[in-house]
Amino acid sequence: MKEIKFIENIRARAAAEKDVIAGIGDDAAVLKHDSKQHLLWAADMLVEDVHFSLKDASFNKIGRKAVAVNISDIAAMGGVPKYITVSIGVPPYVKIRNLNNIYDGIFKICKAYGICLVGGDTNRSGKLVIDVSIIGSVEKKRLVLRSAAKEGDIILVTGPIPDGRKTHFDFTPRLKEARFLTGKYKISSMIDISDGIAPDIGRICCQSGVGCVISEEAVPLSEGLSIKDAFYYGENFELLFTMSPKEARRLFLDLSKKNSFKKVFFVIGEITNKNKGMYSRGKEGVLKKLKMEGYRHI
Ligand code: ADP
Ligand code: MG
Repeated sequence: MKEIKFIENIRARAAAEKDVIAGIGDDAAVLKHDSKQHLLWAADMLVEDVHFSLKDASFNKIGRKAVAVNISDIAAMGGVPKYITVSIGVPPYVKIRNLNNIYDGIFKICKAYGICLVGGDTNRSGKLVIDVSIIGSVEKKRLVLRSAAKEGDIILVTGPIPDGRKTHFDFTPRLKEARFLTGKYKISSMIDISDGIAPDIGRICCQSGVGCVISEEAVPLSEGLSIKDAFYYGENFELLFTMSPKEARRLFLDLSKKNSFKKVFFVIGEITNKNKGMYSRGKEGVLKKLKMEGYRHI
């Protein structure tokens, strides 16, 4: 909550400019580029002992994750990742060979996604910090913001939702899925799940001026994951998105006829009027208020 309020305050202070189609507040900034495409620009930083501990992660994995979370933000806008810069804060106990291992992870995932490393910065630091900035592009027609969900829209996720505690180093950014969706269907809003389904649908609801009801039974859980963790523990980087019932019908009709993307998209709820608030519906139909509080970064 503290983080959301702080960012809201910064957003209010940042000047509006006509070439900034969407600034602070989405998974990536959207900047005017040419008649066909927009530029996407996002940044995501990993901090030792906040996002990872050197006890349970290899340097290679840390490097991979630092890029993967950024790709995920570009995917959530409907776009394609292109260029990154990587800035690192290096504590005395991290050696050159460890840094090279971080870059092994970085280069491997860059290669897999066609991303080019084009710069960065290197400094001493108390803890290991990896700050990645990413540029991507999105065809105007495919751009998806957090702010255009409508009352009556269906809420969907990619899944089953994994346990972020176990998968956050190895997750696959849902780029293929996002490109499939935005290429053929009108997606009204989208976000990647970094903080948990509840706070992340909360972001869509706040920015779209709507409410929601999520059916607890409909949330696809991977083995061993509780609904509470699906709601309030993030770091799974699945896509959470909305579309009109008509578009959702078209999607599932198409999927019933093809072999790819089977059992990947799940309907989990509905967008409601803002006055109705944000709720989940449990087994006996009992409504519970969804909280904005999820995975804490600060
Ligand atoms: P995500 O989880 O998708 O990376 P965040 O919740 O980290 O998104 O950030 C939400 C929005 O706030 C993004 O648009 C991001 O660029 C912006 N933001 C986060 N921290 C800052 C900051 N310190 N200054 C300016 N903008 C920020
Ligand atoms: Mg995001």
